[in-house]
Amino acid sequence: MSGAIRTADLHLHTTASDGQYTPAQLVRLAKARGLEAAAITDHDTTAGLKEAMQAGEKCGLRVIPGIELSAKEYPSLHILGYGVSPDAPVLLDFCRRRRAWRDRRSERLLAFLLEQGVRLSLSEVAEIAGTAAIGRPHFAQAMVRRGYVSTNQEAFARYLDTQAYHAQVEQCKPTAQSCIAAIMASGGKASLAHPYQTGIHGDALDRLVAALKDCGLSAIECYYPKHTPEQQAFYLHLAEKYRLHPTGGSDFHGEKVKPDVELAALELDLSWLPDHL
Ligand code: AMP
Ligand code: ZN
Ligand code: FE
Ligand code: FE
Repeated sequence: MSGAIRTADLHLHTTASDGQYTPAQLVRLAKARGLEAAAITDHDTTAGLKEAMQAGEKCGLRVIPGIELSAKEYPSLHILGYGVSPDAPVLLDFCRRRRAWRDRRSERLLAFLLEQGVRLSLSEVAEIAGTAAIGRPHFAQAMVRRGYVSTNQEAFARYLDTQAYHAQVEQCKPTAQSCIAAIMASGGKASLAHPYQTGIHGDALDRLVAALKDCGLSAIECYYPKHTPEQQAFYLHLAEKYRLHPTGGSDFHGEKVKPDVELAALELDLSWLPDHL
């Protein structure tokens, strides 16, 4: 088994969603930091995967094609997919619907911010997003640019990750079951991302993990920069109890987007991931 242990980071974002670096730049950065494997897990899109995989082949880094999907049951219940096929029709269709949802959400979010005295235009947020679907960090950067807040983090604390935001702006997300199904139908394995962000703990989290396992969940992200040692130990316990592979990653978005998060170099068993990768 030890032959399958790799220095890896299995949770990374690029300019295909809300990250700072292009897929090729990020792969080269991961290689330069000494990683042997890296999973690209952009929000709701596979658009960056081919570029990342080509860059990985060139520089000798194992790139695992991934995705991160947001589910509706809790404000930040995210499901990671590993080993997905970037062109799988099921996943492309899922991503197309998510992109339309993001467009509608942007309109609701602009109106929500205006009610609170923050006046942004869609075009200035879209300019920051470039070709990517608009995500909340793009809004945060627009608010910093206009001087409404001084950091991205402040934008989230005051506007973009509040109870009012979640009640009024976030609507109609897919169920965790449908996220897992889309990942599995495109050849991937599903993992529960940053369990602490669900906001539930103990027995409630145990029940959620049991339900996700019944839907086909394969892994759980135990190692994550924001997890306390106690949380990490509990998630490792859940991994063992439900026979889930323990994974980990940094959720690196680049220092401009998340200044406090660096690439991780975790020793992980990757033998359970599809062989062809
Ligand atoms: P979205 O998928 O557009 O809803 O945006 C989700 C992204 O927003 C996450 O991946 C994080 O990058 C960022 N995010 C969510 N909540 C927070 C928070 N409280 N502080 C900083 N960034 C956050
Ligand atoms: Zn993000
Ligand atoms: Fe996430
Ligand atoms: Fe993420």
